[in-house]
Amino acid sequence: MRIEQVPTPAYVIDEAKLVNNLEILKSVQDRTGCKVLLAQKAFSMYTTYPLISQYLSGTTASGLYEARLGREEFGGEVHVFAPAFKDADLEEILEIADHIVFNSERQLRKHMDKCRAAGVSIGLRINPECSTQDEQALYDPCATGSRFGVRIDQFSEDLLDLVDGLHFHTLCEQNSDDLKTTLDAVEAKFGSYLHKVKWLNMGGGHHVTREDYNLDLLISSIQHMQEKYGLEVYIEPGEAIALNAGYLVTEVLDIVENGIETLVLDASATCHMPDVLEMPYRPPLRHGFEAGEKEFTYRLSSNTCLTGDIIGDYSFEKPVEIGDKLYFEDMAIYSFVKNNTFNGIGLPSLVLMDQTGDCRIIKSFGYEDFKGRLS
Ligand SMILES: *Cc1c(COP(=O)(O)O)cnc(C)c1O
Repeated sequence: MRIEQVPTPAYVIDEAKLVNNLEILKSVQDRTGCKVLLAQKAFSMYTTYPLISQYLSGTTASGLYEARLGREEFGGEVHVFAPAFKDADLEEILEIADHIVFNSERQLRKHMDKCRAAGVSIGLRINPECSTQDEQALYDPCATGSRFGVRIDQFSEDLLDLVDGLHFHTLCEQNSDDLKTTLDAVEAKFGSYLHKVKWLNMGGGHHVTREDYNLDLLISSIQHMQEKYGLEVYIEPGEAIALNAGYLVTEVLDIVENGIETLVLDASATCHMPDVLEMPYRPPLRHGFEAGEKEFTYRLSSNTCLTGDIIGDYSFEKPVEIGDKLYFEDMAIYSFVKNNTFNGIGLPSLVLMDQTGDCRIIKSFGYEDFKGRLS
């Protein structure tokens, strides 16, 4: 079926756009010999893993479940980082992971013997204390008091006998100039230690597939770390893998006129695009413009009970009618992975659009998915 025929609400993943991103990411691997991993917390539509695994080296996980998913559906290397590991989870993770990265010296010392015995490569997350994001602290692991990573004043050389590699993750939707700034800080603080480890994982937040991304600076930064310190380098982007590669398709159910004309949609910010409220941000909308820019302005909202469940105000060239479909763009990442069934609202189906534009429903959800998480 064509995208216009897909039952709503639905996330439609655009395979052509995905492949385009994957080709760019693979070129980074090919030009440097580094390894690129899919950070599953941003995008884990595992139907696409066989495709993605043709381009990338493996997956990274935030804990046991994502690690299992990566092992079962993707293959390749499985890396895991968590602020702390529960003993029972770690037992299972040891059977499937290639790398485990610890967040603190205490966690490292607690679990390292089991990792060694299982043949898992051990890493420690460092905090280079270099904030390159000027927005809010929500996405800045280098913010004051952040729980992430060992700072240089807590680091001692004998830790190097316990680990194979170091990991940092400080970026969010950033270009390679910020990576360069961060690497300068990593080298200034941890440079003498880098000679003594095998690998360096530079985390995610690299917006590699964005149009204005400076790929050459990423490549030269990776090569610099490889050559100067003899390191094996990993990056683990999430967003960049499926950036602009999916849509949330929704239908206008009603139009309420209470001083403002509000479109009531069968998709919700709080249930289906929570980053709109959390981050917050305004999702791009096909044929939608800034409020007031075109003749017909509406407030886009949902069929939940939450007054603030508002996606934003958009204007259109033509009046919108009940039954019209709207297409939110850039909805593959940090969207369905965060879904919930608040208000008993149904989960949108997951749809794959192949390179010819043909859409196939991969999974649809119903009442049992709502009830199954309650008791
Ligand atoms: C979130 C996260 C990533 C992926 O970040 P993106 O911003 O989606 O690229 C990678 N590594 C770690 C440790 C993370 O927490």
